[in-house]
Amino acid sequence: MILAPVFYILVHFVTSILPQNAIVASSTKPKIQLNKRYIYLSFDDGPLKGTSNCIDVCLNEHTPATFFEVGIHQAKSALTKKLSYRILYNDSIFVLGNHSYTHANSEYLYFYHNPKMAFNDFLRAKRRLSFRNNIVRLPGNNAWNTANVKYASNLVKPLVHKLDSAGFNIIGWDVEWKFNI
Ligand SMILES: [Zn+2]
Repeated sequence: MILAPVFYILVHFVTSILPQNAIVASSTKPKIQLNKRYIYLSFDDGPLKGTSNCIDVCLNEHTPATFFEVGIHQAKSALTKKLSYRILYNDSIFVLGNHSYTHANSEYLYFYHNPKMAFNDFLRAKRRLSFRNNIVRLPGNNAWNTANVKYASNLVKPLVHKLDSAGFNIIGWDVEWKFNI
């Protein structure tokens, strides 16, 4: 099933910026200035047709971004595979992050009530998309689990523990922008 593209603008203040610094591609990693605030852009749920525009705009504007991508979307066509490779190989400016294989098939309660199955879904996405990091974003749920930021609802805590034990960092978001055509 194809999910509507959702674009997240992730904003996080300097007090907890350090763990997120890891999600910025190494060559574009800013020097952190404690008196400034930083905005981290992330785009979720691709690769889909609209992902191409996001890639083009960010490349043209030299704007780093993280793309949290879904395995079934990447596997769908030659175009979506190509889009994921464009993100992966532009690693001086982009980070490709794991947003699960199925996006829970939009059955979030079932997904999170079966943490072993959900965990395996992330592993399947990892095999499919060849991520170069262990950064994940949970589908349909805003949870955090990094060295310095921890937030998870009771629903997702069993999955968060599994991902944490396997060395994954979970990145949520602070501000969400939904673009409706
Ligand atoms: Zn999503």
